[in-house]
Amino acid sequence: EEVLQPARIRPLDVSVVNRIAAGEIIIGPSNALKEILENSIDAKSTSIEVLVKEGGLKQLQITDNGNGIEKDDLPILCERFTTSKLEKFEDLDSIATYGFRGEALASISHISHLTVTTKTNKSPCAWKCFYSDGKLIPMKPKTSSEPKAVAGKNGTQILVEDLFYNVPSRLRALRSASEEFHKILEVVGKYAIHTGHVGFSCKKFGESYNSLTTRSDLPIKERIRAVYGSAIANELVEIQVLPNEDIGLVQCFAQITNPNYGQKKTTEVFFINNRLVSCDPLKRALNQLYSVFLPKGNKPFLYLALEINAKNVDVNVHPTKREVRFLFEDEIIEYIVSIVQEKLTSLDSSRTFLTQQ
Ligand code: ADP
Ligand code: MG
Repeated sequence: EEVLQPARIRPLDVSVVNRIAAGEIIIGPSNALKEILENSIDAKSTSIEVLVKEGGLKQLQITDNGNGIEKDDLPILCERFTTSKLEKFEDLDSIATYGFRGEALASISHISHLTVTTKTNKSPCAWKCFYSDGKLIPMKPKTSSEPKAVAGKNGTQILVEDLFYNVPSRLRALRSASEEFHKILEVVGKYAIHTGHVGFSCKKFGESYNSLTTRSDLPIKERIRAVYGSAIANELVEIQVLPNEDIGLVQCFAQITNPNYGQKKTTEVFFINNRLVSCDPLKRALNQLYSVFLPKGNKPFLYLALEINAKNVDVNVHPTKREVRFLFEDEIIEYIVSIVQEKLTSLDSSRTFLTQQ
């Protein structure tokens, strides 16, 4: 008779733990890009350039003109849970930056070859260094891992090469390079729409033109035109929702297409407290409202930027920070939908009136 033996419990190898944790935060090239973009925006950049090779799997290079990183911070830059943005747990209540977990660069360093070149405006030169598994490593064997002085402009350049080279299962699960590039463009485009004080560009390696360009300080409609084209930009209506303290809504600004416009699938660009988020209940509610105004099968373009009382928002629900939870979700959605409804109704009746004449 077989005797059942319990399987013994052993600690996982630390490198395995780190790789698993990294894979939760960096699901694909576009997640890596989003984290790096947010760091550049946090660093007060006004220009961010993205260069992509093979859908970001071969190479993802982000160049900003922000604050830069102090040379003395470079040795711990890619250690897990090192951050310049959060000091105590209570700070999460008022967090205004994108980062705070100090995990993005650490994660990326565990699953790619990472090069950082950075210069603060006080430093006479730029510093370039290489990272692997959270630590500085030498550029070539038998050389020092110390940052190397190089010529460079103020700001930071992050170069991610061979993403997931040591996570073969993830590499297999990813879509084609062109689909990954599409997702990257989508992330850059959405930030370009929302972050008007920054000029963005995104280019495929080896091509002479940019796939996307926005200048800084373009009006919102022109930014949407640059990213999504004139068919959408020409049909936008602006909506300013009045604050509603009772439900913690500080502000809501929207640019959405009018009832004359329709497309096959909804494009939604939702920012909550400046964070690019997905918010399915809001999308569902607005789609349902539009279905009353649009011919069957037609869907809107929706850009909504909500500011919700920071105390009511939990940005720490998930490592990718894509999901946020906030208090009064139903009430806030209902309130916004009612105002959009009023606007669409007024546009719709003026249209009916015009066609009747
Ligand atoms: P977090 O953003 O949560 O702090 P990250 O791993 O994304 O964690 O970044 C770690 C730290 O590295 C940041 O807190 C910031 O101080 C610095 N950093 C990262 N990217 C940049 C950048 N582009 N410019 C200036 N500082 C940066
Ligand atoms: Mg960050």
